[in-house]
Amino acid sequence: MKGEDKDMGKVAIYPGSFDPITYGHIDIIERGLEIFDKVIVAIAENEEKRPLFSVEERLRMVKSCFKDTPNVIVDSFKGLLVNYVGKTNAKVILRGLRATSDFEYEFHMASMNRSLNTQLDTLFMMTSKDYFFVSSRTIKEVARLGGAVEGLVPDLVVRRLKEKFKLPVPKKRRIGWDD
Ligand code: ADP
Repeated sequence: MKGEDKDMGKVAIYPGSFDPITYGHIDIIERGLEIFDKVIVAIAENEEKRPLFSVEERLRMVKSCFKDTPNVIVDSFKGLLVNYVGKTNAKVILRGLRATSDFEYEFHMASMNRSLNTQLDTLFMMTSKDYFFVSSRTIKEVARLGGAVEGLVPDLVVRRLKEKFKLPVPKKRRIGWDD
């Protein structure tokens, strides 16, 4: 238990854009909960990435997905991740790895973060076979062109994507952001 807050348990931060959250992300969070007592989903407020959804919209979608899971905390942060992590009691950054294409970027980020804070480790989880091809970017592209993304993102995200791209949403499914 050395270096660990016994009261708070083991905490991991799962940072990302989540623009929007997919079942690939959710799978990593759920598997993270098998290892950690608490997972903080930290949504990066990086406007340079020109997100489709505002940070408030992304927060509401992720919160809604985990409304029944009290050990998932959803928050947003600006600036350097290591600065944000320093404000929490997390010692580990959780990241997902898909194909080799993710590796180089993730390797550089993990090394940089460790150089900025030597107490901080990054734990990588391999994507599940069902979601290895799922990324927020391809989800947005397919949804924009009217393709079906059901089963790859939660239903509430399907609806939000249809609304963003002004595609028809079945009437009874027109519900609040937090459903
Ligand atoms: P970022 O903009 O920081 O890459 P993302 O929201 O795209 O944020 O991803 C956050 C994390 O989730 C990253 O570590 C990414 O590799 C991982 N991830 C995204 N999609 C999947 C998936 N389908 N399977 C496993 N990990 C994933």
